[in-house]
Amino acid sequence: MTETKQIRGKVVVITGGARGIGLATATALQALGAQIAIGDIDETTVKESGTARNFEHYGKLDVTDQESFDGFLDEVERTLGPIDVLINNAGIMPTGRVVDEPEELTRRILDINVYGVILGSKLALRRMLPRRGGHIINIASLAGETHIPGLATYNASKHAVLGFTDTLREEYRGTGVRFSSVLPTLTNTELGSGVTPPKLLRPAEPEEIADAVAKLIVAPKSKVRVTAVAGFISQFVGLLPEALGDGIGRALGSGRAFLDDVDADKRKAYEERAPGAGARAPGRGGGAGGGGGGGG
Ligand code: NAD
Repeated sequence: MTETKQIRGKVVVITGGARGIGLATATALQALGAQIAIGDIDETTVKESGTARNFEHYGKLDVTDQESFDGFLDEVERTLGPIDVLINNAGIMPTGRVVDEPEELTRRILDINVYGVILGSKLALRRMLPRRGGHIINIASLAGETHIPGLATYNASKHAVLGFTDTLREEYRGTGVRFSSVLPTLTNTELGSGVTPPKLLRPAEPEEIADAVAKLIVAPKSKVRVTAVAGFISQFVGLLPEALGDGIGRALGSGRAFLDDVDADKRKAYEERAPGAGARAPGRGGGAGGGGGGGG
């Protein structure tokens, strides 16, 4: 059970908080006494979730839009006080072969998953540095440490988040602001719907990611991988010679999990719902290699 005293009263902003990992994290931190602000591009669902859970603040936020993001943070600080923790969680994960990915979709993935994290981190830093305190937590993925066919642009985006967050940790060492990355395995949310989990790797529940985030706030560290087993496999496979690592990935099924083995109807439903994640050309077939760890 996480200690509550380090979390009680903290002002925590969570992007993409209307559902999934963001909502589970908001719920867990609220139970530990934090003051919660969730923002999401899906205005209807963020209002429903905010009202249902009685969060202190909720509303529309587009992480790719500077005015929207800055305005949201201003509003939170006006109503709740200085932001202690920003969790850059909003993200999308379209699946399929990169050759079929329209340019618009490639840009959208990078815009939300990478630029949104960079923008949020800059806006939070400008507020936190003068106060010499704060914590920026970026939700990356085990896909940021490996390579999974069917997720090429998503993989690239999560590798970028890890590189960015590690760099900030060094660039702002000694300022009082902390930086962490969270690396979930495939997790049971709408984002991963219709994907067949790789063998031996059970999908995580969003509450497990939420628990890891709560522990990070209590005892900050640079990275946390969830689940521990998937994190271990991912790191271990990364140390092996390339051909062996890729072979293990294929044996675990991660070469097909996001291509041939997807439930096309479920993926379509997700991609139609997720903002800007749709509009992929047909032709998902044909699996290839794949690293271990089971990203998502
Ligand atoms: P989800 O689809 O359930 O929720 C994501 C939320 O982000 C949605 O409510 C969506 O409306 C919001 N969003 C999308 N674009 C936005 C924008 N421009 N501005 C603001 N909000 C926006 O997904 P999830 O599984 O909860 O994913 C949360 C994070 O965890 C993502 O960064 C994802 O890449 C990461 N992650 C997920 C998994 C998984 O398997 N579910 C695994 C590893 C990492």
